[in-house]
Amino acid sequence: MSVLDENITKLDGYLARFGDKGILNRIAGEDLAGSGGVFQTISPVNKSVICDVALGAATDIDAAANAAHDAFATWRDMPASERKKIILRIAEGIEARAEEIALCECWDTGQAYKFMSKAALRGAENFRYFADQVEQARDGQHLKSPTLMNITTRVPIGPVGVITPWNTPFMLSTWKIAPALAAGCTVVHKPAEAAPLTARLLVEIAEDAGLPPGVLNTVNGFGEGAGKALCEHPKIKAIAFVGESRTGSLIIKQGADTLKRNHLELGGKNPVIVFDDAELDRALDAAIFMIYSINGERCTSSSRLLLQDTIREEFEAKLIERVNKIIVGHPLDPETEVGPLVTEEHFNKVTSYFDIAKEDGATIAAGGKIDRIEGYFVRPTLFTEATNEMRIAQEEIFGPVLTSIPFKSEEEALGMANDVAYGLTGYVWTNDITRALRFTDKLEAGMIWVNSENVRHLPTPFGGVKASGIGRDGGDWSFDFYMEQKHIGFATGQHKITKLGAL
Ligand code: NAD
Repeated sequence: MSVLDENITKLDGYLARFGDKGILNRIAGEDLAGSGGVFQTISPVNKSVICDVALGAATDIDAAANAAHDAFATWRDMPASERKKIILRIAEGIEARAEEIALCECWDTGQAYKFMSKAALRGAENFRYFADQVEQARDGQHLKSPTLMNITTRVPIGPVGVITPWNTPFMLSTWKIAPALAAGCTVVHKPAEAAPLTARLLVEIAEDAGLPPGVLNTVNGFGEGAGKALCEHPKIKAIAFVGESRTGSLIIKQGADTLKRNHLELGGKNPVIVFDDAELDRALDAAIFMIYSINGERCTSSSRLLLQDTIREEFEAKLIERVNKIIVGHPLDPETEVGPLVTEEHFNKVTSYFDIAKEDGATIAAGGKIDRIEGYFVRPTLFTEATNEMRIAQEEIFGPVLTSIPFKSEEEALGMANDVAYGLTGYVWTNDITRALRFTDKLEAGMIWVNSENVRHLPTPFGGVKASGIGRDGGDWSFDFYMEQKHIGFATGQHKITKLGAL
């Protein structure tokens, strides 16, 4: 039996449990049907229905927000050492079920197992990392003044909403939920409607690890229903959102009446800038990895390649050769490098850029076509002869599609890199350290790597500028979001208090 066949057999075993009941909402430790009925989740691999999913609406969100509100004091006041143990057990639970998570995620999203097996384990790492921070999360500072002993302390903000997208749904939800739980918050999670399977696994794992009922609640549904209601709910104190930039602005509007705190991780059109003094073979590997792994459905993907004109011809020739050799296939085949795109709608969006590129006057140097028709498969694509003004250089395509643009000088490269609505990441390839310092200082991006692909280090801040987001995750930055700072001043003596009405 091939590894692909073995994986398919294992997947069938894992999916069987969703057969009859489908995916229900999980509120206060109970399985509940959605008040809006059901919707279906479809596999992009062969367009088959995977299962029914509870269609949550405002009443389900209300029940979940009340459950999170009721569970808050218990979770907040549980000794940090106890909360730490539970969060560590969640990490262990994820590791124990990593294969199930990865296989289900591949089937639901179309992402290749090659990457999803690592993403499931990254989810466990997120819980482990934040478990280690639980005991210090409330620590503050001591700021002495002449008359007062001032201390600061942090307290969890309250029940929070977490709204996640479909691209790597499990990993992304752990990235929000782990620090929220570590901070002492309770959570209502609204997973992406296009890929809801693994959110169900996460809440099960968390409850099996001893997380009290109501601390993590999952309500499935669509953005305009359950998502909007979550943003508007008065008992939800903050929304941690990952998704498109235009949805981000809706999140702010919907939360305005209840003065929500929002953390927004949004889209990107990230440049990889390759100067002619760089180590070109490594730059090539990294550029290919950052746009064609994870189906290019990755917020930090290097979707704009800015190439110095002196090396352009040679670099593009090697690039075309490699892109044409990328293995598109069944996501459960361990050899597969690119799987099908998540939904028909997204497939139509990505493929529409093949015509847009031609209309704009760019050249399709590789791909630009459908790979096979039983699912939403496209060939990895490269556009050349492009300019930075073209739509293929300005809009987030969010697929395995790269736009290559030449530049002459450092100044021109910087101008093009910054001339875009987004500012999530940037990748700079040069062996001139002074240039790297100068360039990164001026590059408008929340995260920049020099001579490297994106290598996530959990204590570092993650987030974007401009249309790519507001706020930072990672390390202590996560606690700034999920917690409130408090200042308490203690008089150290009998300092003079100005008297009014005492004359
Ligand atoms: P999306 O904005 O369409 O949906 C994301 C989530 O928001 C889903 O759960 C959806 O149901 C919900 N939603 C939609 N409308 C809503 C509303 N009015 N109120 C509340 N919730 C609403 O995004 P997507 O298509 O699922 O994901 C792809 C996008 O996510 C890309 O733009 C990508 O760059 C971005 N992304 C960003 C990061 C990051 O860290 N910056 C990471 C991953 C993905």
